[in-house]
Amino acid sequence: MTAHPPSNQWTLSLIVPVLNEAHSLRRFLDETLEVLLPVVPALEVIFIDDGSTDGTLEILRELSSTYPGARYVSFSRNFGKEAALSAGLQHATGDAVVPMDADLQHPPEAVIDFIDVWRHRGVEVVYGIPASKQAETASKTATSSWFYRLFNKISEVDIPASAGDFRLLDRVVVDTINRLPERNRFMKGIYAWAGFRSEAVIYQQRGRLTGTSRFNYWKLWNFALDGFIGFSTWPLRIWTYIGGIIALSAFVYMAIIITKTLIWGIDTPGYASLMSAVLFFGGMQLLSIGILGEYVARMFSETKRRPLYVVMETDST
Ligand code: UDP
Ligand code: MG
Repeated sequence: MTAHPPSNQWTLSLIVPVLNEAHSLRRFLDETLEVLLPVVPALEVIFIDDGSTDGTLEILRELSSTYPGARYVSFSRNFGKEAALSAGLQHATGDAVVPMDADLQHPPEAVIDFIDVWRHRGVEVVYGIPASKQAETASKTATSSWFYRLFNKISEVDIPASAGDFRLLDRVVVDTINRLPERNRFMKGIYAWAGFRSEAVIYQQRGRLTGTSRFNYWKLWNFALDGFIGFSTWPLRIWTYIGGIIALSAFVYMAIIITKTLIWGIDTPGYASLMSAVLFFGGMQLLSIGILGEYVARMFSETKRRPLYVVMETDST
């Protein structure tokens, strides 16, 4: 097992997506630095201002000029947390990168546990599991568990339920993710897609420092759709099966009405031929939509241009 990193001189990058968090930023940076500076040889904190309108940017300018390790990237408008995380991963230079929310729901103490596991257990990913979801409402917890179950059934990769963005990623994982050219970035799926060895660490999730969640149900629903559609071609391909089943039963029913007409004669003129035509074409249409879906699915996975595989280790040159 290899220990990460090989030397004692290493850098930790925190990437912090920020949408209208002017009231918590100072406290976030203070607490984080207080906890992490004693244990990390070099620390960089990259804030990604995701189109805030509450003076967040002014505070970020100030913070970055007072603490040399703090930097910021400010978006021209709100592009969403996934885009902010992608920008953070591109800008981070550390040997390990930890995405962290700005509302202090992710305790900096947990990052120390992540680092421990990363340095001593030879894993490239350490993902955080919140000990209790007290900070969330019951309905949010229920819908998210339902989402993970369905996602893991139909997608090409499995994501551990209740693991979020709060995790430690080794440089090799970050480089792998940065190489993905796809534009639709459902980060939880992307972390899972990248692979590598991973281990879970349980942390105590706190309540939000100020304000309320920036995600409402509508945003979460669209987020879930992005996940399903980006990591599964199942919604396209299901029509082949539905079409096949309907076409088959239509043919059977057609055979029955035609036989009945042949044996007992016509009771409603035109019924047998009309019905047969409707059933036949209905079944054929669904089947051909399914076949189109198969091709569209292939085009879809080709256009994502993901690498075919990611190598973790080899002794061939
Ligand atoms: N966030 C962001 N862009 C968005 C929504 C949220 O950068 O469009 C940031 C937000 O400022 C916070 C983190 O993402 O730092 C998580 O958001 P929040 O705490 O509102 O969500 P929840 O805790 O419900 O996951
Ligand atoms: Mg939060």
